[in-house]
Amino acid sequence: MHKTGEPKDRLDLVFLAEGYTASQQEKFQADAQRMTQFMFEHEPFRKHRGKMNVSGVFRASWESGVDEPDKRVYRNSVLNASFNSLGIDRYLLAEDGHALKRYAAQVPYDTVVVLVNSKRYGGGAICLDYCVTTVDDPRSEAVFLHEFAHSLAYLADEYIGAVTYSDIYPEGVEPVEPNITRELELEKIKWSSLVTQGVPLPTPKDFSVLNPVQLPVVGAFEGGGYLRTGMYRPQRSCAMGDGLEPFRFCVVCDRAIERMIEYYAPSESSPSESK
Ligand SMILES: [Zn+2]
Repeated sequence: MHKTGEPKDRLDLVFLAEGYTASQQEKFQADAQRMTQFMFEHEPFRKHRGKMNVSGVFRASWESGVDEPDKRVYRNSVLNASFNSLGIDRYLLAEDGHALKRYAAQVPYDTVVVLVNSKRYGGGAICLDYCVTTVDDPRSEAVFLHEFAHSLAYLADEYIGAVTYSDIYPEGVEPVEPNITRELELEKIKWSSLVTQGVPLPTPKDFSVLNPVQLPVVGAFEGGGYLRTGMYRPQRSCAMGDGLEPFRFCVVCDRAIERMIEYYAPSESSPSESK
């Protein structure tokens, strides 16, 4: 779908079809194209499109859709993906890891995105492994890119909210994800080099001074990693939090994604980047 160079020099993304029947192969192709287009319309993917290859692998499922246990719906699909994973309505995972890797291995890949043929809102990700999204909810493109940022760059959720895994970040332990912190001393904050000069830490949520290049303030805004207090995020709004419309990653998430792209596709091997 998008080829810019040899797989060894590129970040290779593969879309896998899940819950598409044999007669829905063209729909899968169109869905994968639509997701690819959305990704390349947004930074930092837009400026690094020359460092990525994108392909798709289609295997027909016996039935259309996936399992929705809360609705007593069970579908015979190639990856056995299911809603209600981890006890959450919208959470989708494909739990058969061996099947997923065998399926993806039809092409060279670094990262896997499972497209689930469903109208229901949902998605999920396992950091540094794979992500899942549905395709026919009005928010599906944004869900895809949010979930992909988790699986590609080990980014944390920046939103606050009730999830069954809200005890994922123990008190007194600094999380490993690059975009949330428990620290409030400038030199200990992971993104200290990006913090706007003179900004208070923690940063009040209505703090509105713009930095010299007129970008929104970078500081330490309270709330992130599902927690309302004691956890901080870099900017007021980010696509890993509530910044889905318009879709925009904060500068820290942007940098983390760029570093992963750079890891798979070092700049010296990307002559097409400037195109
Ligand atoms: Zn962010």
